[in-house]
Amino acid sequence: MRAYERLITYAQIHTTSSETSGTHPSFEGEWDLAKLLCTQLKELGANEATVSEYCYVYAKFAATEGCEDAPALGLIAHMDTAPDASGKDVRPILHENYDGEDIVFANGKVLGAGEFPFLKDLVGETLITTDGTTLLGADDKAGVAEIMTALERIQTENLPHGSLCVCFTPDEEIGEGADLFDVPFFGADFAYTVDGGDVGEIEYENFNAAEAVILFHGKSVHPGTAKDVMVNASKLAMEFQAMLPEDECPEKTEEKEGFFHLTRMEGRTAEAKLQYIIRDFDEEGFENRKHLMETIANRMNDKYGAGTAEVTIRDQYKNMLEQIRPHMHLIENAKKATEEAGLAPVVVPIRGGTDGARLSFMGLPTPNLGTGGFNFHGEYECITAERMDRAVEILLGLIRMYREKQDR
Ligand SMILES: [Zn+2]
Repeated sequence: MRAYERLITYAQIHTTSSETSGTHPSFEGEWDLAKLLCTQLKELGANEATVSEYCYVYAKFAATEGCEDAPALGLIAHMDTAPDASGKDVRPILHENYDGEDIVFANGKVLGAGEFPFLKDLVGETLITTDGTTLLGADDKAGVAEIMTALERIQTENLPHGSLCVCFTPDEEIGEGADLFDVPFFGADFAYTVDGGDVGEIEYENFNAAEAVILFHGKSVHPGTAKDVMVNASKLAMEFQAMLPEDECPEKTEEKEGFFHLTRMEGRTAEAKLQYIIRDFDEEGFENRKHLMETIANRMNDKYGAGTAEVTIRDQYKNMLEQIRPHMHLIENAKKATEEAGLAPVVVPIRGGTDGARLSFMGLPTPNLGTGGFNFHGEYECITAERMDRAVEILLGLIRMYREKQDR
């Protein structure tokens, strides 16, 4: 079976994660895909396959004879889809030998090359789109399908391999995919997430991330008798924002540039509150950003009195680079496997965080590999069958390299 055929089956199972349910998994439907995958993993020869109480699918494929000393290689993808668009009643549409023209859906929406220039690169491939009413769920059911197809190839072609550990997680899209991931039970020495991005993309650097809350305490008196007494907290908040570097915000930065992003504000005369997220690839740059917020607050406290501005900063996640660095073979081999699959590897910094970044800090170094998909989290999501085939080849290349590699 080709990977895209699996994707079409998985895409039709409703697994939209929920930001509000508070349950694990966050949505009941995730169990349906988890159970199906567990059954299929057993059919593909898994020595162990289970669904955990939190809906994580874990499977192990023991090393074949002679490969017992190879490191245990982990492969990870997520089963849920983003809550940003509907993932219910997904009807994937195949456009064989895609001609590069605009695709007009029945509801009038247009997937067009004007708006999405990458489409011209897909000419001649089998393009898989939605019907314009839901997302496709290639993020990340394409990753699931590609891992499953690689395992199927191992079984049907009797390919030798080291110990393989597979995990399909729930709730990645709501940032919880790593929360209840049992790293020791998973048992891998290192792993790859197969999630998002075009095929050939390799990601092992992401933002350092923190959240900052600044509380401003003013003095509220009747405006008629306020002279020399009133301190307006809302205006203190505006003064604080004005002291941050004007161009270091998401709308003016790209690639490896960091930023401060004002995510929320509320204010009255007596009290005001600003909420920010702070992002930076560089550890020192990240610390400097946090320090700058403290410095501005201190300056305001000197000016208006102690306790006027209170800063609370909470770290959220860190750049996985420092965890990957001792295991650069993960990146070198991914590049090699990509080239062997006939593609030029592209290393991209992730302007966000990934479950792999979290897992890397939980002791499981986990860079990410692209799946071949585009326009995630919305109705214009698409992928091609050929790109998925290439992703499978890359996985098989890595499995082959790690059965030979004995050092960890
Ligand atoms: Zn994803």
